[in-house]
Amino acid sequence: SDLAQTLRLRDDFPGVGNWHYLDSAATAQKPNAVIDAIARAYGPDYATVHRGVYERSANMTLAYEAARRKVAGFIGAASDSEIVYVRGATEGINLVAQCWAGTQLQAGDRILLSTLEHHSNIVPWQMVAEKIGAHIDVVPLTQDGKIDLDAMRAMMTPRHRMVALAHVSNVLGSVLDVRRAADIAHMVGAKILIDGCQAVPRLTVDVAAMDCDFYVFSAHKLYGPTGIGVLWGRAELLDAMPPYQGGGSMIDKVTFEKTTYAPAPTRFEAGTPHITGVVGLSAAIDYVQAIGLDRVHAHECGLVAKARAALDGMNSIRLFGPDDSAGILSFAVEGVHPHDVGTILDETGVAIRAGHHCAQPLMRHLGVEATARASFGIYSDDSDVDALVVGLERVRKIFG
Ligand code: PMP
Repeated sequence: SDLAQTLRLRDDFPGVGNWHYLDSAATAQKPNAVIDAIARAYGPDYATVHRGVYERSANMTLAYEAARRKVAGFIGAASDSEIVYVRGATEGINLVAQCWAGTQLQAGDRILLSTLEHHSNIVPWQMVAEKIGAHIDVVPLTQDGKIDLDAMRAMMTPRHRMVALAHVSNVLGSVLDVRRAADIAHMVGAKILIDGCQAVPRLTVDVAAMDCDFYVFSAHKLYGPTGIGVLWGRAELLDAMPPYQGGGSMIDKVTFEKTTYAPAPTRFEAGTPHITGVVGLSAAIDYVQAIGLDRVHAHECGLVAKARAALDGMNSIRLFGPDDSAGILSFAVEGVHPHDVGTILDETGVAIRAGHHCAQPLMRHLGVEATARASFGIYSDDSDVDALVVGLERVRKIFG
């Protein structure tokens, strides 16, 4: 069954229309429900949070904190005080790298990453490792492009204090067995952070069942606004971490002699927050929950399977990643640079991504400079796959 056609979801997204938008892994288009919620938040509902004594500010504060409870429920967190609003996954990872690793790790300690990580789950760890004198190890991938957990298990030592892995690869779509990775990390007492950017829009996430320690994601890939994202951390870890930035809101008491800080999560939310972003995120969660992420996942897997089968049948196309990838398919057309593939597809109304996808170490591993990537969303349907195939036939014709 074709979810997008059955539910007429395409009509909910003014940014989609008849366009074959296959770049949802970069950022997802927004449903009217989100756009309207943001417009109301900037319009008749607009006021600051936490400070106002007037009714509208009190209402906005209620909405802002209700959204925190909604996020907690959405990812299976034990408490809304474990939800920190951040700018996005990038800021969430930097926050943990600086405030947890930066204060807990010592020279000689080790951080474990994987070959397929996004730069945002590599560079913040390198920055803190360099400062502290810690080391970074890299878990290799299996033949079909999944993080090799047997290799991970063999690599772990008591010096490993932090493991940071992607739940779903933004290039290959490979899905990590988070529970198993967490169990392996915990065997040596390491903490595990999961980069959930590509998982949250595609899978049902339950941080308690997965038993990870930190989880981050960006709202803009979940059909919500840019500039807002979530860091979830276990309460006892967040409570033990120093503030990230200083400023308004994050304090308990300020004097020139000494300042004391508010408890988590407020301690990590200095300054006037992205109020309307939080409202938009809340509307986005309502939207995907009404459809159900299990259905979204099945829908996207069906589209990827269809695309894989069609592209597999075209010679001169190389597919990357496992057969059971979640909504994301990277490929190469022999003899044609991915940018040229993308440009020609654009002329036929098909938008894909071409480049290194902020995963240069993975490109090196695959032996390519760049890949072409088609990624699907709630609104994607069979017509998008058909248009991709027609566009690729044209690419092959042009390049003979
Ligand atoms: N991790 C992964 C797997 C991603 O796909 C992305 C976004 N491309 C990020 C992290 C970074 O997200 P953001 O740029 O929204 O902070």
